[in-house]
Amino acid sequence: GAALLEVRNLTKHFHTGGGIVAAVSDVTFDIKRGETLGVVGESGCGKSTMGRTILRLYDATEGMVRFAGKNVHQASPKELKKLRRDMQMIFQDPYASLNPRMTVGDSIGEAIDLHRLASGAKRGERIEELLCLVGLKPEHSSRFPHEFSGGQRQRVGIARALAVEPMFIVCDEPISALDVSIQAQVVNLLEELQRKMGLTYLFIAHDLAMVKHISDRVAVMYLGKLAELADSEELYANPLHPYTQALLSAIPIPDPGVERSRERIVLTGDVPSPMNPPSGCHFRTRCPHVMEVCAAVNPVWREVQSGHFVACHL
Ligand code: SF4
Ligand code: MG
Repeated sequence: GAALLEVRNLTKHFHTGGGIVAAVSDVTFDIKRGETLGVVGESGCGKSTMGRTILRLYDATEGMVRFAGKNVHQASPKELKKLRRDMQMIFQDPYASLNPRMTVGDSIGEAIDLHRLASGAKRGERIEELLCLVGLKPEHSSRFPHEFSGGQRQRVGIARALAVEPMFIVCDEPISALDVSIQAQVVNLLEELQRKMGLTYLFIAHDLAMVKHISDRVAVMYLGKLAELADSEELYANPLHPYTQALLSAIPIPDPGVERSRERIVLTGDVPSPMNPPSGCHFRTRCPHVMEVCAAVNPVWREVQSGHFVACHL
């Protein structure tokens, strides 16, 4: 289908006392309507900043984001209000979006009020409907966030995001802080909601195992840049970028009887600071295949097979 979201050469720098932090550098991709694009990378690689810049919670330093044909960073205040409704975010820690002194019903109601979507009895019904939609109960409406478990709190965060009937949701590590037993429940809920409501997701996580189930396509990010992007099946079966290969080799195989098809690739060295990224390929200081050209020339982001993008000189 057509792209709902087009991201072109998106770059986000932060000016700090110590200098310029290149959090996101020249990122280009599309998200199709109704799909889930997983984004994976180590903490600090710029995934969250990218998500927030897409939503214009941060201004872009360079580049463009187009959502449903609208240029997000050039939208008028009126257009932006509409975009704020169409594009939502779910956080790793739902405390970040829930006021601890407000009942869950009031938190959800606040989103409804902001966009004047319902009032009076309709508003109360809508809150109860949203709670049921995410697997909670109408009577949960009068409780406070601290009365819920982590998984339930994440359900409240999802209900709040859904209150404004969005089209697109940036899910910023929504399961990373949850117990493993709860993670699958939240992923299943997000998938069910996607089917029911035709939602499109950008799903951020710090490891490939976490996004495998939910993502139609997966992008791998390293130090502010995209290393690789492909259909999930293709990426897991045929990783081309040395960083993706290393990440995949680290995923434990659930059945110990099955022989590992790939050698474990252990990366040495730390991720360099985004304040002072390496010249050329950002991954070159840790790449097992580094060549002379990698320091001198920035590898371009190109489509090497249909739908399979990679930035590497190999
Ligand atoms: Fe490794 Fe060079 Fe490819 Fe970068 S461009 S991933 S350093 S081979
Ligand atoms: Mg993050």
